[in-house]
Amino acid sequence: MEFVIATHNADKIQEFRRILEPLSIEAVSADLPEVEETGTTFAENAYLKAVSAFHATGKPAVADDSGLEVDALGGAPGIYSARYAGEDATNEQRIAKLLDALREVPEEKRTARFVCAICCVLPNGDLLTARGECPGKIAFAPRGTDGFGYDPVFLTGKKTFAELSAEEKDNISHRGKALRLFAEKLREYKEKSHAEQ
Ligand code: IMP
Repeated sequence: MEFVIATHNADKIQEFRRILEPLSIEAVSADLPEVEETGTTFAENAYLKAVSAFHATGKPAVADDSGLEVDALGGAPGIYSARYAGEDATNEQRIAKLLDALREVPEEKRTARFVCAICCVLPNGDLLTARGECPGKIAFAPRGTDGFGYDPVFLTGKKTFAELSAEEKDNISHRGKALRLFAEKLREYKEKSHAEQ
């Protein structure tokens, strides 16, 4: 079964493909309408994106809504991670705003987590959902050149996500965890549907 990846974010598409292909799930991109993220949780926004892509293409669709929760900021930027420094801001501007907001916060209080909610709409309209989290800390300055978004300031152990190889990031990332859980739920769903026939 081929799944449409319900996102316009090229970096996410790359990660989806990278993680799902070894699990025998074919994920393709498509020309999709913009979706207003009016949900109040990651799960609600993932649902809005997946349903919209399903209706636009008629194909099963899988969406992610993700973001960074920083404890010292009461969980911000959270679901607003992409828009944290304004609609058209760059990754550098978002990172600069985050580091500025945390400039007085000592190392031990810079705890944070990446969160990823996955929602998949199947051909009959059934939904599968999964969530993944990756705990870490916010660095004092950006480091590394790989990855995207807040990766250069998200520390897991001594390295930022942007200093990890793609494989190392996928093994521990919120998206890797959520997509592997989704793949497992899809397998169980297929087995159950097959057994009921
Ligand atoms: P959205 O899910 O399209 O609303 O955007 C999520 C935003 O969270 C992205 O634009 C990034 O800024 C950030 N984000 C989500 N996942 C990652 C990641 O794996 N690395 C770095 N930043 C991420």
